[in-house]
Amino acid sequence: MLKQRLSTVAIILIVLFLTLQFLGVREESAKAQVRDMCVVIDAGHGGIDGGSVGRITGVYEADINLAVANALAEKLTALGIRAVQTRSTKEGLYGEPTAGFKRRDMVARKRIIEAEAPDLVVSIHQNEYAGSTRCGAQVFFCKESSFSGHAALCIQNELNASVNKRRLDALFGDYYIVKCTGFPSVIVECGFLSNAEEEALLQTEEYQHRLAETIARGIIRYFSETLAA
Ligand SMILES: [Zn+2]
Repeated sequence: MLKQRLSTVAIILIVLFLTLQFLGVREESAKAQVRDMCVVIDAGHGGIDGGSVGRITGVYEADINLAVANALAEKLTALGIRAVQTRSTKEGLYGEPTAGFKRRDMVARKRIIEAEAPDLVVSIHQNEYAGSTRCGAQVFFCKESSFSGHAALCIQNELNASVNKRRLDALFGDYYIVKCTGFPSVIVECGFLSNAEEEALLQTEEYQHRLAETIARGIIRYFSETLAA
């Protein structure tokens, strides 16, 4: 009787050990593969298109987008991920600032994405609203892509856990940049330039890096979950 019980315990322990080994190996290989991923980071606006404007300081959204995008590129590169930026300077992508510049700018971004065939596109923007109380970072995605939805959820969860005062949901967004290619794409609206507190925070290097760190964590989670699936 005792012998039988011991062998049952032994079998349970062996199964448990093998399961843990299997999960461990899967996790390790997911981590290794994350290193081969490519992310296109798109700093929204630029050049003559400043985007939203801070109500108190007059700061341009385009400049905050660039600072967060640069910090995000740095963090992803440090993790071994290939980070490609649509713009890494204050300039727009439209060429001459003549009629039709916005269209040319957006098409240039699309071409960069198509040339890179990335695993994920993350477009960085800042939000604004008529009232001044709305705040928080929110992710938008194209509803036709389940991968985009998954990535948006992973990034939103991290933002809710580390920067948002209250929980926000990732939402469908009918934006050119998330639907111009078939690659998984999200927009991160990092905060509201119509909210005085966020307008100030978004201009500090510390908060810009915190946002970048948080978005990077969401990206890693998305890659790990899709690779482990
Ligand atoms: Zn914008």
